Amino acid sequence: MAVGTCQTVNLRNYASPEAVVEDLAPSYPVFCVRPHEIQAVARRFIEGFSGDVLFAVKCNPGAHMLSILFEAGIRHFDTASLPEVALVSEMFPDVRADFMHPVKSRAAILAAHSIYGVTHFVVDHLTELEKIASIIPPGPDTVIVVRLAIYHKAAVYELSSKFGAPVDEAVTLVHHVLAKGYGYGLAFHVGSQCLDASGYAAGIDLVRRVLERLDSAPRCVDIGGGFPARYVNSQGADLDTYFATIANATQTLSLPDDCRLMCEPGRGLCADGESLITQVHLCKGDGLYLNDGMYGSFIEEKLGLKLPVRMVQARDFSSESREYTLYGPTCDSLDVFPGTVNLPADVAEGDWLEFGCIGAYGTACRTHFNGFFADTFVAVENDFGESI
Ligand SMILES: *Cc1c(COP(=O)(O)O)cnc(C)c1O
Repeated sequence: MAVGTCQTVNLRNYASPEAVVEDLAPSYPVFCVRPHEIQAVARRFIEGFSGDVLFAVKCNPGAHMLSILFEAGIRHFDTASLPEVALVSEMFPDVRADFMHPVKSRAAILAAHSIYGVTHFVVDHLTELEKIASIIPPGPDTVIVVRLAIYHKAAVYELSSKFGAPVDEAVTLVHHVLAKGYGYGLAFHVGSQCLDASGYAAGIDLVRRVLERLDSAPRCVDIGGGFPARYVNSQGADLDTYFATIANATQTLSLPDDCRLMCEPGRGLCADGESLITQVHLCKGDGLYLNDGMYGSFIEEKLGLKLPVRMVQARDFSSESREYTLYGPTCDSLDVFPGTVNLPADVAEGDWLEFGCIGAYGTACRTHFNGFFADTFVAVENDFGESI
């Protein structure tokens, strides 16, 4: 069988997951990266959103993911730690990293500003602004982005119990930002996996309420991440609905031309771009013991999102099916998938399962617990579940 190399990322390239198991018969988990999927979604964001599309690096900091996104035209990155700032700045010289975590160490602020030339920093509290002001000299080149708190029921994971200022506090914070001689911006994150585009309209309305009480225009408005991926049990509207809702809502802000509009998709940009081939290492009644689990790449399952799963068709399977409980490889009894999955009745030791939609927070949240760490990547050309 011919095995090429995916040019973009220097990964070994296969036609399908079936070709991967035929070639490698892997006893360890293998990530299947689909550059064509990642690039297609990236282009939809770049065409559909009329502003800067920042990739939220924490969602998938793999070098291949960053390279594929760069090749698709992504030139802006939402970074939340000094290592993330350094990673993207040193991988791609001319891109822009904005520091979007509301809590930063003094060392991270200093190095981001003086070594990597970062100009945009998020705050949601006066003490963080004062910390920055003790490190970065005043001047309009530095933009302090005030993050607003927002609760929206359509988001699967809310983030505002930890971050964000209410409208009144945000107005006061902007006054302090301006008094210190910086430019200001406004941001919110509606929550991750936001299933309803109206969440963005609600966030933009909060921005409008802050702007109404200010005399000067913002340098940027950042509508955050939260765009949903398509899980078995959690699917939002089409991306175009989100872009249309956002475009309509932003018009109500009457922003000046030099105000940057920004979004920070993580999950919505890269979830579909990777799947994971796992192997069954033991069948015990209706239990299947796999080589990856809750301490590996499946944190999203633990939190309630169901990833699509299929058998890799390395052999013929029974047309009858049954419910299985899936266990991960570690010695911890917490290492079990919630719920059950329906698979062929004759799954056996050595068979392979492919989980889709693992590109967001899958590789990013792996641990080394118990010595297990999935770290093999190949590129595949087909779509997840496409018949072979
Ligand atoms: C996590 C995060 C993102 C990405 O969120 P998704 O829900 O994955 O799109 C964007 N911006 C900030 C500030 C974040 O913390």
